Amino acid sequence: MNEELIEGNTMSTVHFTCPECEQRLTLEEARRAAVVATGCPLCTAPIGATAFEPLERVQ
Ligand SMILES: [Zn+2]
Repeated sequence: MNEELIEGNTMSTVHFTCPECEQRLTLEEARRAAVVATGCPLCTAPIGATAFEPLERVQ
């Protein structure tokens, strides 16, 4: 858990559950497109946009 987020330098994270290995993973939002393109980091199964959970932004 990142409890100390510097304003202006916050890093949004996204969560997704792999439909193949069923692992729930967290990654930086910036890497989301890469995961969709290359698949699950663990098992390389294709990750669709629907696997991602809605963004949570911490104020
Ligand atoms: Zn997987």
